[in-house]
Amino acid sequence: MTVKTRFAPSPTGYLHVGGARTALFSWLYARRHGGHFVLRIEDTDLERSTQASVNAILEGMTWLGLEYDEGPFYQTHRFDHYNEVIDTLMEKGLAYRCNCSKERLEKLREEQMAAKQKPRYDGHCCDRGISPDEPHVIRFRNPLEGEVTFDDLIRGRITVANSELDDLIIRRSDGSPTYNLTVVVDDHDMGITQVIRGDDHINNTPRQINLYQAMGWDVPAFAHVPMILGDDGSRLSKRHGAVSVMQYKEEGYLPEALLNYLVRLGWSHGDQELFSVDEMIELFDLEAVNRAPSTFNTDKLNWINQQYIKDADPAHVARLLSPHMGDLGIDPSEGPDLVEVVEAQRERASTLVELAAISAFYYRDFEEFDPKACKKVFKGEADQALAAVSQRLAALDAWEREAIHDAIKETVDALGVGFGKVAMPLRIAVTGGAPSPDLDLTLYLVGREASLRRIDRAIATIQDTRA
Ligand code: GLU
Repeated sequence: MTVKTRFAPSPTGYLHVGGARTALFSWLYARRHGGHFVLRIEDTDLERSTQASVNAILEGMTWLGLEYDEGPFYQTHRFDHYNEVIDTLMEKGLAYRCNCSKERLEKLREEQMAAKQKPRYDGHCCDRGISPDEPHVIRFRNPLEGEVTFDDLIRGRITVANSELDDLIIRRSDGSPTYNLTVVVDDHDMGITQVIRGDDHINNTPRQINLYQAMGWDVPAFAHVPMILGDDGSRLSKRHGAVSVMQYKEEGYLPEALLNYLVRLGWSHGDQELFSVDEMIELFDLEAVNRAPSTFNTDKLNWINQQYIKDADPAHVARLLSPHMGDLGIDPSEGPDLVEVVEAQRERASTLVELAAISAFYYRDFEEFDPKACKKVFKGEADQALAAVSQRLAALDAWEREAIHDAIKETVDALGVGFGKVAMPLRIAVTGGAPSPDLDLTLYLVGREASLRRIDRAIATIQDTRA
């Protein structure tokens, strides 16, 4: 049987990291087993579902590279089909109309609570033969006896007595089908073999299994992925920081770094931390997914992101960096090759936003010299050292690393001072104080004209301070 998994978000917001991890696990499982991955938009809640949110989910999945083989299917396009299934259940006597008033249900609930019982529908209407002309909902006739057992691929065996389950509503009074019905119909119709989803749905699973059985359909396997917690131990939410996948893009994370972080959140393979997508596909298994919730750790995500910035193909990093340079008002085509800048700077940043910030000086003059660095090195004879090195740099035939290096060295020798006496003010003069690589490489990338202009500005600053 072909493996088929799915991701079935409700489009009521952006794609958050919890949803993205569930989608990733489903996608990996399908890829690992040569199967198909289906995207289904569960938009039956007409009030809360929006097209903007569908688009945000699609955008997030595309950015992460979680490509789906089938879909997106929209549940709102399938109402006729759900109704056919509900009608079949009615014909088989496995569902019934209920016209219990809100007041009656509320009273029942209060009595049950007072008697310390679990609130549940008492089956009042199950044999009352309510007319279709009266306002009503339709309830599924859950078996009264026996139990439901399933072997969750993450949690292991789970058994629930039918006496714990009540007759759930499958069609609302406005005629719309409910989640537990639509999800079963769709997972059946779409041939889903493993339902991988958040464990907030674990209580729905036994009810859904009863629906499969009522329809005489094969029951898929289930895997319930534990939730993600924030660092204070409560469920991860906005108040812990970014939760939207696209916000991570904006904050300068590489999609493959976020995927790598998410796959490790609750899954492990020995003590390996870094996985290429191909390795994830080769090694991922639901059995190795942790049963306990995992805690989101931004420091670890930053560390992983830094490894990817450091080790990925510099041309790839440059492509992803480009929009962040644009955010700073910089057009990287008007300056040194961005790929060379990435190679020069990438050891010094853990996000692309940081990398852009520390690379801006290659493309435009900074506003001011870092005051601390200024105080430390723009003093004594620094202006003379800068004037001397400037002269030699201006006279170079070619603006190349080796020649730049020699010019600095010759200045040091001619002045008879330590290397730092020339190099330190020169570095601050040209970079403003931003983290930077070897001095000859820094100057080479900044370019001759900008370097000389900035050295002049530094000399003037030193002389102003002295005056
Ligand atoms: N639409 C449901 C949700 O977003 C998921 C349902 C499922 O995966 O079964 O929570």
